[in-house]
Amino acid sequence: MDSLLPSALPQPLPAPATPVQLEALAADLRAAGLEPLRSSGELDQLAADGFVYSPVLQPLLQGRRAQLGVRAGSSQEVLAAAAACARHGVSLTLRGAGTGNYGQAIPLAGGLVLELSGMQRLLELDPRSGVFTAEAGILLGDLEQQLQARGRELRLLPSTVRSSSLAGYLAGGSSGIGSLRWGFLRDPGHLLGLEIVTVEANPRLLQLDAAEALAINHAYGCNGIITSATLASAAAVEWQQLVLEFPHWEQALTAAQQLPATALLLNMLCVLEAPVARLLPWPQGCPAATGTGHRLLLLAAPDALPALEALLPPLGGTLLWQAAQGTSRGIPLRELCWNHTTLHARSQNPAFTYLQLLLPQPEAPALAALRERWGDDVLWHLEAVRAQGQQRLACLPLVHWRGHEALDALITHATDLGCLLFNPHAITVEDGGLGGVDAAQVAAKARHDPAGLLNPGKLRGWLELA
Ligand SMILES: Cc1cc2nc3c(=O)[nH]c(=O)nc-3n(C[C@H](O)[C@H](O)[C@H](O)COP(=O)(O)OP(=O)(O)OC[C@H]3O[C@@H](n4cnc5c(N)ncnc54)[C@H](O)[C@@H]3O)c2cc1C
Repeated sequence: MDSLLPSALPQPLPAPATPVQLEALAADLRAAGLEPLRSSGELDQLAADGFVYSPVLQPLLQGRRAQLGVRAGSSQEVLAAAAACARHGVSLTLRGAGTGNYGQAIPLAGGLVLELSGMQRLLELDPRSGVFTAEAGILLGDLEQQLQARGRELRLLPSTVRSSSLAGYLAGGSSGIGSLRWGFLRDPGHLLGLEIVTVEANPRLLQLDAAEALAINHAYGCNGIITSATLASAAAVEWQQLVLEFPHWEQALTAAQQLPATALLLNMLCVLEAPVARLLPWPQGCPAATGTGHRLLLLAAPDALPALEALLPPLGGTLLWQAAQGTSRGIPLRELCWNHTTLHARSQNPAFTYLQLLLPQPEAPALAALRERWGDDVLWHLEAVRAQGQQRLACLPLVHWRGHEALDALITHATDLGCLLFNPHAITVEDGGLGGVDAAQVAAKARHDPAGLLNPGKLRGWLELA
């Protein structure tokens, strides 16, 4: 089988802008009241991203950065920046907070990086339906606070909720806290509409309905600039954080399969194999993981607690710690799950990288085969999710980096066992998670970015047309 790991940047890529193009672009931006950012420090800051978690991507993306940056505070300013790029033929990469994992916001061919950090407002919340519209650059943590003040909450959140932006999550993210209940961001019913700006000499401000917005969702900003988004929300719950411990891995796995199949209202369930638990910081008051126990982290509704107490002894679990979300000190549980587990493990040992897989059903035989073959080289971290209406287990195993060949062999073994790969060592939208070319994404690029200026190199379907 061919390697799924890139060894070079996707091609063809446009040439970086010439000094003449850059000066003309900067002059147009200034004329529109926008201040171009061009110092080395500013451009380096705009080139940071979680690609460093991948030893495959790091050598390919390190040092890639924009030639100019700019921050917009309104749709009018976004229109002006898009027009200037189209006029001078300069490529344009969008950036939220830069917490993406695969270099999604890293420009492969220089050009302009546009941040919408001045667009931070919650514009509308319908108190009856809970449907809200917010500007692209709002930080998810701020959005969450404003929704909670009105009895609502976001259905899905990345573990980077405190630092990442709404448009960055829609264009780059996929799942996270809430996925156990609500599935994935691209599932119909979450994203109900988008306002976008096209990249043309006379850019258009378009209102897309849910069906049209799907092509922009998880497209790495390759086929439209999101300026605001309309989403469904959920009724706010006072989530309780619980840390459980199980002496045996099989018990923790059984609990991860059985708890989401009950009527308990849960928002996150994460299982950490003992060696992973030992690498993590724990909330104040929660015992540090020093032994051989496997940990299961839960966010549960208050009314789930009595039933959970009764369920735990037969499952073999013990409750180690409990606190309402927002009241505990130190690290909250939602910053121990999803890719935050990898973050903490890498802070102990930067030689760790990771994978993202959806396990086949039944999970136990596939996991047992993987654990047996890979031993201590792969440490297990599971996340309960709802995939196409079914409760499933995803995993983000920590992988000791032993080179491309070993990672390829692990991926081949996992996929041969029936695991679905969401490859965090890929550059294009398709190779990262979508699996194949989505004709609707490519068609949307042709409509909204006919010259192919948005985030060049990231949409394989478009490159294949070139
Ligand atoms: C420790 C860690 C934990 C994480 N946990 C999760 C998780 O639980 N779930 C998850 O899904 N992801 C997770 N991620 C990935 C990432 O944090 C999230 O997807 C995050 O929401 C991205 O938001 P951002 O503002 O940082 O986007 P950025 O990284 O800035 O951008 C992401 C993509 O969106 C595009 N984009 C940004 N703004 C716009 C716009 N206005 N219009 C069009 N395109 C735009 C960018 O070009 C880029 O391609 C994690 C990453 C790390 C490092």
